[in-house]
Amino acid sequence: MGIRTGEQYINAVKSRKPEVWLEGRKVENILDEPVLKQAVIEIAKLYDLQHDPEYQEQITHICEETGERVNNAFLVPRSYEDLIKRRTAFEAYAEATFGLMGRSPDFLNVVLTSLYSNAHFLEKYNPQWGENIRDYYKYIRDNDLFLTHAIVNPQNDRRKSSHEQKDMFTHLGVVEETVDGLIVRGAKFLATLAPVTDEVIIYTFPGFQPGDERYAISFALPIDTPGLRIICRESMQDGKRPLFDHPLASRFEEIDALLVFKDVLIPWDRVFLYNNVEAANLLYPKTGIAQQPSHQSAVRGLVKLQFAAEVAARLADSIGVDAYLHVQEKLGELFQSVETIRALLHAAEYEYETTPEGEVMPNGVTLETIRGHMPNMYPRAIEVMQILGAGGLLLSPTGADFESEELREDLDRYYVGREGISGVERVSIFKLAWDLCGEAFGQRLLQYERYYTGDPIRKKAIFYNNIKRNSKFDMVDEALKVGQLKELSNK
Ligand SMILES: Cc1cc2nc3c(=O)[nH]c(=O)nc-3n(C[C@H](O)[C@H](O)[C@H](O)COP(=O)(O)OP(=O)(O)OC[C@H]3O[C@@H](n4cnc5c(N)ncnc54)[C@H](O)[C@@H]3O)c2cc1C
Repeated sequence: MGIRTGEQYINAVKSRKPEVWLEGRKVENILDEPVLKQAVIEIAKLYDLQHDPEYQEQITHICEETGERVNNAFLVPRSYEDLIKRRTAFEAYAEATFGLMGRSPDFLNVVLTSLYSNAHFLEKYNPQWGENIRDYYKYIRDNDLFLTHAIVNPQNDRRKSSHEQKDMFTHLGVVEETVDGLIVRGAKFLATLAPVTDEVIIYTFPGFQPGDERYAISFALPIDTPGLRIICRESMQDGKRPLFDHPLASRFEEIDALLVFKDVLIPWDRVFLYNNVEAANLLYPKTGIAQQPSHQSAVRGLVKLQFAAEVAARLADSIGVDAYLHVQEKLGELFQSVETIRALLHAAEYEYETTPEGEVMPNGVTLETIRGHMPNMYPRAIEVMQILGAGGLLLSPTGADFESEELREDLDRYYVGREGISGVERVSIFKLAWDLCGEAFGQRLLQYERYYTGDPIRKKAIFYNNIKRNSKFDMVDEALKVGQLKELSNK
């Protein structure tokens, strides 16, 4: 089939009945829930972009194997040019959503492509696992499906490994093997957009201990598989608030969910890894699923950071405060952050690495450096927005107030910005900023930048430890030599 349209994606959502819980209610129809429907609309637009003549070449290519047009997220990069093809696709999706939807379909499609191109890793442990992941990749690619993932155990007692938890099946684990497949029970989080996806993939993240064998599993399933319960977090907007008042929160809310597996059957052909702690711990570092998706995250993060910087700048300009030195300095800092990430992204692509099998990946050290900076740079952009918007951020009237004939004159007079900025314009910019820096929606976006791919604190520690392993810090010895020589000559 190749690339889907937005309508085909919406029809797929309509055709399914996953078990979704939202604020104590079992959802009957995904599209009847305004907060879920909004995400479907935005994702459908991304599918439509694939067919837009202006974007098609940027986002898609002809698959060598099938001759059909598929998304560039399914391209196994073999050259620098392939990396750029991927980047342009990531950019188109990120720009369409201002970088605010981290789990757009391209993210997990890249993960899957990487698992496919590194299937030899799985094959080494079990030839069937390699075959299963290859078949699954082709199925997702050729049907252009949308995946969610849940790879983290619930936060119960983090000091203990999975098999040491009080309840044996708090963490997702295998209950039994049957002729048809594995029966699994327990929970995983934090499956972003789960209710509106086609499939869920579970894969392993390092940290398994001996004794965790039953928890060392990777597999994929249709999102409406019987026994799979999706418990959504409290939504951060109701999907009904006017676009004038919440121009971002009312469009880009990505619901997150806990996935609970109630003795769910995983058919053998959907099992990618099982009962092997070593393979489970090595899957992440050895199959490119840390590195290749970080390319998408870096491109998307750059768009999001630039958007935040631009909103802060327009806000400051709208009330004339960017005439002051300290405001210019803060805005300068934000745009320097944007340029830092942009430069790192280009460096990561230019200084690519090639695997022994010929797959090209953006430079891992540079991508990890982006990953390390973003949890500081993005929150700083939000803080600057709060500092520059000050009390005005809390004082915006609603669109309904502007529509009141009785109030309108007052609002036009007292909300007017610097010369040339009308009351409506100023309030609109402040509302955009408030969605990013005040609303719970914006706080989630900030938390996303910190945690979307693991713990930034431990990741930075790993970064340092790798450097320490590979470097003797020779310059220090060189500098110390001078002192040593002096000591000798003093004797
Ligand atoms: C908005 C958002 C969307 C997300 N979307 C997804 C998704 O779609 N799919 C998915 O699978 N995941 C998703 N994640 C989850 C993400 O992968 C995790 O949040 C991340 O891996 C961190 O794990 P945790 O939240 O369990 O934090 P924890 O690991 O519990 O950490 C909590 C705190 O304890 C500290 N800590 C915990 N353990 C240790 C330790 N051993 N040593 C030192 N310090 C420790 C950490 O440094 C941290 O400060 C999302 C997260 C967010 C915030």
